[in-house]
Formats: sequence, C-alpha cells, structure tokens
Amino acid sequence: MTIFSKIIAGEIPCYKIAEDEKFFAFLDINPVQWGHTLVVPKKETDYIFDIEDKDIADMMIFAKKVAEGIKKAIPCRKVGMAVLGLEVPHAHIHLIPLTNEGDMDFKHKVEDPTPEKMAETAAAIAAMI
Ligand code: AMP
Repeated sequence: MTIFSKIIAGEIPCYKIAEDEKFFAFLDINPVQWGHTLVVPKKETDYIFDIEDKDIADMMIFAKKVAEGIKKAIPCRKVGMAVLGLEVPHAHIHLIPLTNEGDMDFKHKVEDPTPEKMAETAAAIAAMI
C-alpha cells in the first residue's frame, strides 16, 4: 500500500480538497506555492502513463475541476500542471498556482506551512469546487 493509498483510506491525515469514486485531491505537504495540490487515482498505479486510457482521461477531467477551484481560491495567473513521480510510486498530478515561470520550481518551498494555514488553504479551495 502506498503512502497515498493510506491517505485515501484515512490511515494518514491530509489536507483534503475533493474526491469522487475514482480520484482524490489533497494539498502537497511540502508545497512549492500556496495551494499546491496533488490529484491521485484511488487505484494504485506507479507510472501515470501506465493508467488505462479511460481512467487517465477521467483523471484529467477531475484535475480540471480541482484546478478551477484553485484558480478561484488562490491569487494566480494560471494553475500549472506537472507530473514527476520520482518520490512516491503512486501516480499523481501536481497542480500549482502560477504567476511567474519560476513558480513551478520544485526546489522552491513555501515558508512556514503551518497546519492552520494549510487547513485554511484546503478549505478555501474545497469551497470553490
Ligand atoms: P514526486 O513523486 O516526485 O511527484 O513527489 C511526491 C510529492 O508528494 C512531493 O511533492 C511531496 O511533498 C508529496 N508528499 C509526500 N508525502 C506526502 C504526504 N504525506 N502528504 C502530502 N504530500 C506528500
């Protein structure tokens, strides 16, 4: 069971944003920007491009809804999307609010992401979905 499956099962806490039958969205614990969100399929697959066509299409539609919520809740020009998957072997899309090109730099981290501010951010996004 991956760490993301444990989050989906409620065994590990997260700052949840949204879910449906097939997908789950929550804040990245080490955000690159405020509102940095992960979209994860409930079915475990390591590599995103191993996901079946129908499921990856549905994942994109779910990510679009979440991105629309992020865009409304977090001041930004656009919400960017990235897939890395080098750390956690459970496919996921990173959704990151962008104002400048450099805002997608994964070496940059938000300063002091306190539990209170993270919970507030997740609630603000969830309210827009
Ligand atoms: P990568 O697999 O390279 O896309 O990176 C995995 C991402 O998952 C990183 O941005 C981590 O900060 C994030 N991450 C790892 N564990 C957790 C967790 N328990 N809750 C939320 N995000 C996590």
